[in-house]
Amino acid sequence: MSELKPFKLTAVCKDYIWGGTRLITEYNQKTASDKAAESWELSCHPDGPSVVDGGACGGLTLPEYINKAGIKALGSDCAKFPYFPVLIKLIDAKNSLSIQVHPDNAYAKTHGGGFGKTEMWYIIDCKPEAFLYYGFKHKISKGEFKERIENGTLLEVLNKAYVHKGDVFFIDSGTLHAIGEGILLAEIQQNSNITYRIYDYGRLGKDGKPRELHIANAVDVTRLAPPERQSSPQGPAETFPGYSRTLLASCEYFTVYDMKINEAEMNAGENSFNSIICINGKGSLHGAGAEAIEFEKGGSVFVPASFGPYTISGNCEIIFTYV
Ligand SMILES: [Zn+2]
Repeated sequence: MSELKPFKLTAVCKDYIWGGTRLITEYNQKTASDKAAESWELSCHPDGPSVVDGGACGGLTLPEYINKAGIKALGSDCAKFPYFPVLIKLIDAKNSLSIQVHPDNAYAKTHGGGFGKTEMWYIIDCKPEAFLYYGFKHKISKGEFKERIENGTLLEVLNKAYVHKGDVFFIDSGTLHAIGEGILLAEIQQNSNITYRIYDYGRLGKDGKPRELHIANAVDVTRLAPPERQSSPQGPAETFPGYSRTLLASCEYFTVYDMKINEAEMNAGENSFNSIICINGKGSLHGAGAEAIEFEKGGSVFVPASFGPYTISGNCEIIFTYV
C-alpha cells in the first residue's frame, strides 16, 4: 500500500510570549511569526497537527493521513488508545514558562474533556545556571499551597533543579513544574493540551492583560510533595557498530531513545510507527521501495508501522520514539 512509506512532517510553530528565535534560526522551522516558542514535530492534536511534507500524501495533516492509511500505519500497540497517544515538541524557552500543572486522564475527562498529560523533557541545550521547577522541596498542606498562591510566595517551596545538556525529567501528571529561561528541550508527552496555570510572574499576555490562571483546578490536581521520580542525567549509552543509543524514558504512552548515528539498521514492525526527530547534524533514511528521505536539524520523519527494515546514515543525533 502506497501510504505505508516514510515521510517528513512539517511542524506547526507556536509563538507563545516566552519563546525565542532559535527554533527558526538553528532548527530550521518555518513560521510567519518572528519567534517560535514551540514546534509541534509529531502532532495529531487539533490545536496544531503536523503536516505531511511531500510524497503521495503530501499536504495532508497527520490525522488526515492516519484516517486514510488506517490503524495499520500506527501499529497494533496503538490500537488500545482511543486517540493518537503521543505529542512531540521542541521548546525554546527564552523566558520562563508559567508555573503549571496538568491533570491525569480521570480528572481531564470529568472537567471539560480531553486527556491528561504525563510528559518527559530531554534537555537539548541550556545556558549556564539554567534551572527549572519540578515538584516541591517537601510536602506541604493544601492550605499552605493556597495561601502561598495568594500571597505570591509559592516559589519558596518549589524544588529548583539546575539543568545540564542531556538531563531527563519525567513529569507525571499532577507534578507542578515550570521550564526556566535559557532552556531548549524536547518534550515527549501524552497527546493533550490541558494546562492549569498557577503563577505567571505577573506578566501580561499578547493582549496586554495578565494571562488566565486556573487556581481551583490546579489545587485539585497538584501532588503537594517532592517529585516521585528524580531527574536523571543521560544514562550510559549502549554502543553498537555505527551508532549508540540511550534509553530516555519508557511508559505506557511512549518509549524514547536518544541516538547518535553514523549508520544504523532500524525496523518499523507491525506493533508501532517510528518517529525520528533530528536534533543535531543531518542524515538520510533509506528503505526498500521508498524514496530516500534527507533530514536535518529540527526535521521530523514518520515511519509507518509495518514498513519493515530501513537504514539511517549520516552524522546525526535523533530522538527516536515509538509506542
Ligand atoms: Zn507542562
